[in-house]
Amino acid sequence: MSHLDSKINELKELGVYRELPINEGPCEAIIRLNGKDVINLSSNNYLGFASHPRIKKAAIDAIQKYGVGAGAVRTIVGNMDIHETLDQVIAKFKHEEACVVFQSGFACNAGVIQAITDEKDLIISDELNHASIIDGVRLSKAARAVYKHSDMEGLEKILIEKRDQYKEVLIITDGVFSMDGDIAKLPEIVKIAKKYKALTYVDDAHGSGVLGNSGRGTVDHFGLHGQVDFIIGTLSKAIGVVGGYVCGSKASRDWLLHRGRPLLFSTAMMPGAAAAIIEAFQMLEESTEYTDQLWDNAKYFKNKLKALGFDIGHSETPITPIMIGDESKTIQFSKALLNRGVYVSGIVFPTVQKGMGRIRCMVSALHTKKHLDDATDIIFKTAKEMKII
Ligand SMILES: *Cc1c(COP(=O)(O)O)cnc(C)c1O
Repeated sequence: MSHLDSKINELKELGVYRELPINEGPCEAIIRLNGKDVINLSSNNYLGFASHPRIKKAAIDAIQKYGVGAGAVRTIVGNMDIHETLDQVIAKFKHEEACVVFQSGFACNAGVIQAITDEKDLIISDELNHASIIDGVRLSKAARAVYKHSDMEGLEKILIEKRDQYKEVLIITDGVFSMDGDIAKLPEIVKIAKKYKALTYVDDAHGSGVLGNSGRGTVDHFGLHGQVDFIIGTLSKAIGVVGGYVCGSKASRDWLLHRGRPLLFSTAMMPGAAAAIIEAFQMLEESTEYTDQLWDNAKYFKNKLKALGFDIGHSETPITPIMIGDESKTIQFSKALLNRGVYVSGIVFPTVQKGMGRIRCMVSALHTKKHLDDATDIIFKTAKEMKII
C-alpha cells in the first residue's frame, strides 16, 4: 500500500489530513463529539427529525412488525407493503404523479441518470452539481456538457450549438447547491428546456424539507409542479432517516423499476426506516412549525454573521458558508472552533474548488437562539485572532 501511504503523506504535508470525528449520541444541537459537548453546526438534520420521539416510535413499531431487514431487492421479494406506502406518501406530499424510493440519494443519481439516457442523448450539467450527479453522469452512455454555475446564457448556448445532434437532452441541476446554499434558477431552466425540448432533472437533496410549503422543495418554492420531469430528493437530510426518491410520471417510475440498477441489485431500504419516513412526512403534512422554526433560526444566524462582517457568499438557505479561501487556514479555523466548543466542518478541495475553502455552518430547527449566539461569539473571536476578519 505504499502508493496510498505516499498520497496520505501528501495530504498531511498540505495540512488537509483529518481524523473522523466521533459522535457518541444522537445528532442534535449539542452533541458529544470525541468526548466533549459541542454546539453542532454541521449536520443536515435540518428539522431535528433524526431523533424525534414520534419518528423513533414509528421505526420501533415497524421493526416489531417487519423485522430489521427487507430480505431482498425490491424487484424480488424485498418490496414490502410499507415501501409501496412510502412511495405513495411521497408522491402525494410532493404533488407529483408517482414516486419510487431508493436506498439513498447517492443511489438515485448513480442509478437514474444512466437508466433514462443512452448514447444518442446529451446531458447538460451545472458545474457545481453534487458529486453523486457527476458520478451518475459518468455511468451514462450519453454525451456531456457543463455550464458555468447558474449561467443561463451558457446553458442556452450549449443547446443552440448541440440540440440538433442528439435525440433527448437532459438538463441536470441541484435544487439547492450544497456548498454555497444558493437556489437553482429553476424557472429559467424550465423555460429554456421547453424552448429546446429538453428534459429537466432536479436533485433537491437540500431543498426537500427546507424550501416550499412545509418543505415540499424547490419545485414547490417556484410553483413549478408538473413542469420538472425528474425530481430527486433525499430522505437522509431534513427527513432525518436514510434513503432517496425520484418523483415524476408513472412511466418514469415503471421504467426505473425495470432499469434502475440500485433497485435491481441492492437490497430494499430497511422497513423501520420506511416507517420512520412515513411518520416524518405525516408531520410535515400536519404543520409548518418545523420548517418555520428552521427558517427563523437560519435568518437570525445569517443576519448576525453578516452584521459581524463575515463573507457568507450568496447563500439563500440555511446552508451558511463562511468563506476563507486558503485550504490549510480553513482546516485550522475549523479545528480552533472545535477546541472552543463549536463543531463546523471545514470544506476544501475536492469538495469545492482549490482556493475556495470555507467553513460551512448548518443551522437547524433544534438550535435555540442561545446556541446560535454562543456559536457566533466563538466564531467571531476565533476569526479575529486568526485574522480572518
Ligand atoms: C447529500 C446529497 C446527496 C446524497 O444523498 P444521500 O441520501 O445522503 O445519499 C445527493 N445529492 C445532493 C445534491 C446532496 O446534497
